[in-house]
Amino acid sequence: MTDTIPGATGAPLPPLSDADFRLGAEPFTHERRAEVLDRLEEHLERHRVRMLGYQVNLSLDGHASLGRFLRHHINNAGDPFVDSRFSLHSRWLERAVLEHYARLWHARLPEDPARPRNDDAWGYVLSMGSTEGNLYALWNARDYLDGNALVRDEISGEASCRTTYVRAQHPDDNPNAYSPVAFFSQETHYSHIKAMRVLDIPTFYDLGGSLYPGQCPIDLSGTGTRTYNGWPLGGVPTTGGDEGPGTVDIDALVPLVEFFAAKGHPVLVNFNVGSVFKGAYDDVETACARLRPVFERYGLVDRTVRFDPDDPERTSVRNGYWVHVDGALGGAYAPYLEKARDSGLVKSAPPVFDFRIPEVSSIVTSGHKYPGAPVPTGIYLSRAGSKLRPPSDPAVVSSPDSTFAGSRSGFASLAMWNHLARLGEEEQLRQAAESLHVAEYAAARLRELSATLREREEPWAEDGIEVGHGDHALSIWFQQPRTEITAKYTLACVPLSRDGQRHDYSHVYVMPHVTRDLIDELLTDLARPGAFDRTAEEGAVRPPLPGQD
Ligand SMILES: *Cc1c(COP(=O)(O)O)cnc(C)c1O
Repeated sequence: MTDTIPGATGAPLPPLSDADFRLGAEPFTHERRAEVLDRLEEHLERHRVRMLGYQVNLSLDGHASLGRFLRHHINNAGDPFVDSRFSLHSRWLERAVLEHYARLWHARLPEDPARPRNDDAWGYVLSMGSTEGNLYALWNARDYLDGNALVRDEISGEASCRTTYVRAQHPDDNPNAYSPVAFFSQETHYSHIKAMRVLDIPTFYDLGGSLYPGQCPIDLSGTGTRTYNGWPLGGVPTTGGDEGPGTVDIDALVPLVEFFAAKGHPVLVNFNVGSVFKGAYDDVETACARLRPVFERYGLVDRTVRFDPDDPERTSVRNGYWVHVDGALGGAYAPYLEKARDSGLVKSAPPVFDFRIPEVSSIVTSGHKYPGAPVPTGIYLSRAGSKLRPPSDPAVVSSPDSTFAGSRSGFASLAMWNHLARLGEEEQLRQAAESLHVAEYAAARLRELSATLREREEPWAEDGIEVGHGDHALSIWFQQPRTEITAKYTLACVPLSRDGQRHDYSHVYVMPHVTRDLIDELLTDLARPGAFDRTAEEGAVRPPLPGQD
């Protein structure tokens, strides 16, 4: 490229290639192996220092001392609360981490994990990130709602290892009683869509569009929402649509849920706390208060599930709804913003989302995002009384197979514990408040830049750069700049449709490693002439000129 933006490219190292690492019959010599690993480290180092575009915390120096544990196999296979005979584990640390998040999310801890009360917390540290947590939550939700026996349901005469479910009988008067329907907003992460596909859980728009064409209870005219037989494809609309903050529109959610509850379906609702693109916080507390009367009106509170029509003893009383909170990002720091607000460090905080809300059934967060861990991990917590019944009880592990993975990363628990052990609560409050302040600073500077670019009629930014930032969000989005800049700062690039037209956006995510200096450096690059001119880039869409939309 001839018109490279000065200072916008990193050091001119040749990029790494597969050929550097290809394995053959002969081993690498010690020197050659050290050399290519050095180059990998150099690559990671170079990109780490300016990473701005993804929600991962790169302040990881506190984990360097954990290197010595790489000599060890650490495997937490089985249930975190039931020790197994396998001795190379880190369950003590896993339980400490779970206890920490249970306190943070206001869940009650069992006094005796062997006999938890229904409302006590149960969960585990994930070996994948929130993808695994979402998948596990939806699996548990499906089994709970479609009438499968749970751990707490004592079923007499049951073989100890069975691959078929002990499943409720459909009452004659309601063929939909055990057919859950999923609700989630258009800002929902792709891991949800994937989990619903894996688990074969129908979405409200699939079911609505195919069984009830033209009967969608919400008015979508003039919103530009793509529809399937009148139902909003991709999820419940968000407040203010594409230009809004990305929070679920509760006025749309409630009638949609009511439509299916009235037809006898149990209901699975997902909320986002720190959504994937806009970092938005659904108002879980208000939404649940609005859904509560709907659940009551249609018999979804404490309904009786019957496993055997001839045996009145074989029943289970449980709700006909499951509320899951995808807090992949926000679950880890929104509670600290709430405390920071209470101690005057920030003016306001995101809405409450946790187990203080009686309807909330499960919560996940990712450990490698806001907290910072060198490997993907996360936390899953639910209420013990809703826990799904594992398909089998493998004697070889000697701890119940109540998690998704078999072998589980004991190193992930170690990293999470190390992170939490290093930071006390005061430091957590300070760090969350500082991240929010830096995000607000970045939004203000980007808005100033947008006005400047509009004034100087900058090519491709004649109408400014469409800066967006929701309340308390750590994400700030704006028009996608040129490749040199997106590559230098590892900015995410996401095409969105606005009024039926494609607009290309990038976002900055302010994680704890992001400083005002790094934001200033980005702003200097974005203010250079031509920073948004993507004429030379294949497939780039030119934004409309002022007055042309
Ligand atoms: C990142 C993310 C996920 C998936 O988490 P992983 O840790 O990448 O598996 C799910 N939901 C939201 C909102 C996310 O941001």
